[in-house]
Amino acid sequence: MDYERIKNDIKTGIEDEEKIEFQKSKILKKLSATNEQWSSYRWQLANRFTRAEDIAEILGLSQEETEKIALVGKTYRYAISPYYMSLIDPDDNSCPIRRQAIPSVHELDDVGELDPMDESGWTPEELITRRYPDRLIIKVTNQCGMYCRFCQRRRLIGEHDTHASGEKLQNAIEYVRRNKEIRDVLITGGDAFMLEDEAIGWILSELRKIKHVEIIRFGTRTPVTLPQRITPGLVNTLKKHHPVFVNTHFNSPREITGESKKACEMLADAGIPLGNQMVLLNGVNNNKYVVRKLNQSLLTMRVKPYYIFHPKTVKGTSHFWVKIQEGIEIMESLRGRTSGMAIPTYIVNGPKGLGKTPILPNYLLYIGEEKAVLRNWQGKCFEVENSV
Ligand SMILES: *Cc1c(COP(=O)(O)O)cnc(C)c1O
Repeated sequence: MDYERIKNDIKTGIEDEEKIEFQKSKILKKLSATNEQWSSYRWQLANRFTRAEDIAEILGLSQEETEKIALVGKTYRYAISPYYMSLIDPDDNSCPIRRQAIPSVHELDDVGELDPMDESGWTPEELITRRYPDRLIIKVTNQCGMYCRFCQRRRLIGEHDTHASGEKLQNAIEYVRRNKEIRDVLITGGDAFMLEDEAIGWILSELRKIKHVEIIRFGTRTPVTLPQRITPGLVNTLKKHHPVFVNTHFNSPREITGESKKACEMLADAGIPLGNQMVLLNGVNNNKYVVRKLNQSLLTMRVKPYYIFHPKTVKGTSHFWVKIQEGIEIMESLRGRTSGMAIPTYIVNGPKGLGKTPILPNYLLYIGEEKAVLRNWQGKCFEVENSV
């Protein structure tokens, strides 16, 4: 029952709307912009915060804090959409949105690797990563609405936003056409929805000409960091090519706002099943009640929690790392206490491309020829017959 006591202290963005609205009006004033501009994703992209002084002004940071942001920015770029900026609580130094968006000096700690998953070693064709027999990912851009501080593909973010050329995309699609065992194509980046509707429509119609492609999935964080991107035009483009799935990436209940809810609902109304891939991050969501609140809130907007990823040992992200025990404890805390629908699979990625590997708390205590001994979510043990 602890959750009942604590849940109101873990605020969703909707529950902290007043403060977020206040931040939004501050940002609009600074940029001399209107509500109408705010709701345009092009405006959001063109006005991303990329200067430490501007961030400092909105959050009321000290000179020292501002200099640190500028210093880290020399190594790792940052760009924060005005929308995502408005979610940062200026009164909370440990705000989970701030932690995900604002550069930290810990990024300069020299541990970890640039490409721990060895994606570059699993590239049969430019833009493609293929680790599994029947499915692959195509990275169509390196652009994002916001550059997450824990990004697993930091090495590709670089200084400039570039979409893949038509020629490279064509080659990637040809690879899919040649390899008849590929039945599931995952379009990601960067952020797949950074492409224009026309480009997305073209990729989809090319893939749909390939008989063996059964499902198409998009990986995008735009519902979270740039919900204005989910427009009627985009949704209409997607729904012409069903079955299309979208996996998005909420990490914190504070990311659940009126705008992100609307974005998810537009996608869901177009018949697109929505999944969430959370990354377990120290100081953001390594707390069982935060994860429960997040997952339950996601279900209310028709987003099914799909995966919780254990953080990868990417260089420049060590302050986000957690122990595997923390992930197991979170999984343990969910089962029985919330809907099975709110329980994702916890995944540790094998190094060097060994792949997604699930971890569960142990419920099977013994299994023999005649009997098995299990424990339930409350720790009560029971025996079941196993002699068929
Ligand atoms: C994550 C990933 C996939 C998709 O994995 P699912 O478990 O099917 O969601 C496919 N290919 C690569 C290279 C991946 O990293």
